[in-house]
Amino acid sequence: MKDRTRVRNIGIIAHVDHGKTTTSDTLLAASGIISPKVAGEALALDYLSVEQQRGITVKAANVSLYHEMDNKGYVINLIDTPGHVDFSGRVTRSLRVLDGSIVVVDAVEGVMTQTETVLRQSLEERVRPILFVNKIDRLIKELKLGKDEMVPKLTSIIAEVNNMISSYAEPEYKEKWTVDPAKGTVVFGSAKDKWGFSLPMAQKKGVNFKTVYDAYTAPDKSKLQELASVSPIHDALLDTVIQFVPNPIEAQKYRIPKIWKGDLDNEIAKAMLNADPNGPLVLMITDMKVDPHAGLVATGRVFSGTLRSGEEVWLVNAKSSQKTLQVSLYMGSTRELAEEIPAGNIAGVLGLDKARSGETAIDPRFKDVQGSFETLHYVSEPVVTIA
Ligand code: GDP
Repeated sequence: MKDRTRVRNIGIIAHVDHGKTTTSDTLLAASGIISPKVAGEALALDYLSVEQQRGITVKAANVSLYHEMDNKGYVINLIDTPGHVDFSGRVTRSLRVLDGSIVVVDAVEGVMTQTETVLRQSLEERVRPILFVNKIDRLIKELKLGKDEMVPKLTSIIAEVNNMISSYAEPEYKEKWTVDPAKGTVVFGSAKDKWGFSLPMAQKKGVNFKTVYDAYTAPDKSKLQELASVSPIHDALLDTVIQFVPNPIEAQKYRIPKIWKGDLDNEIAKAMLNADPNGPLVLMITDMKVDPHAGLVATGRVFSGTLRSGEEVWLVNAKSSQKTLQVSLYMGSTRELAEEIPAGNIAGVLGLDKARSGETAIDPRFKDVQGSFETLHYVSEPVVTIA
């Protein structure tokens, strides 16, 4: 958390039913937070009954995953974002605190309207997309594609995604953020069957699309299980995130000019550009939830300064000051008390009852600069209770 080069802030975005929840659950299970057996069936992020009734994810939640790559540990904050178009306001709000997005696309359905909406929003917020082509099993089991017919189908999906990146990304990111299987910015796999790889990873592990085809056409499941153990989807996605999503220090340099509408030479803007833990506090709140044990919990990203408990903050939208009571970090999906949380991290805070999702809490000495934050407008929403 203090070594912010080892933090990544990401979200998973997708057209409804393309596999966002299954993917999130698989990542959670791999981090040891829920048991692997339950993942994919339990749909951990869909915990509200209202969501279960509607069958869609409507409420954002944060989980922090711990992942090791090349013997180094990383904290990956995964913000769950709703995929339903009616709630596109919420997608934007969540995207604001992310630096990277995993765009999940069903290999059979390909790019759909909401894929375009969420990818566009991601690019407009300067959140770098990586592509996960999910449900590869359906190409073999449902479309009955042969070994050699899978690659052309996947190539056309990638081309469609890149067309959108080229339409919606700002000029300086069009090429840089184009997804490219050869470079490793595209992951292929099945969230349900828990295997996945990028092409460079596949090469290292000695697997390929023929291995995949053989696994699904074999008389029993042993080859598929072997594929999932040699090339698990959580490693594929999290390694890709670590390699291609910038850490918060790198990301804030180009993301702040999108969020901050004032003078970039201003002290508060400079502190955010540098993710300066010694600068004035700026906390962007993406989520407010009632925890039955703790009360109203604000979740947000510290863009500058260091968040501590017992400090007065100014709420830009509520035009009111309040004191932070308890600050915490997410460990898995639970919160653990922390003494201080430096810029770049996602935090939970108690005490900010006057805040609503989309609020910005700042160092009160800077309340005169409040007009410089670009305000987001959201669909009105009730505060919900965590079951
Ligand atoms: P969301 O709406 O994007 O969150 O999608 P879900 O994760 O709820 O998945 C929608 C449906 O697709 C569920 O029935 C999943 O079991 C199924 N699904 C997810 N991943 C795969 C996959 O890799 N292959 C197949 N065949 N189905 C999948």
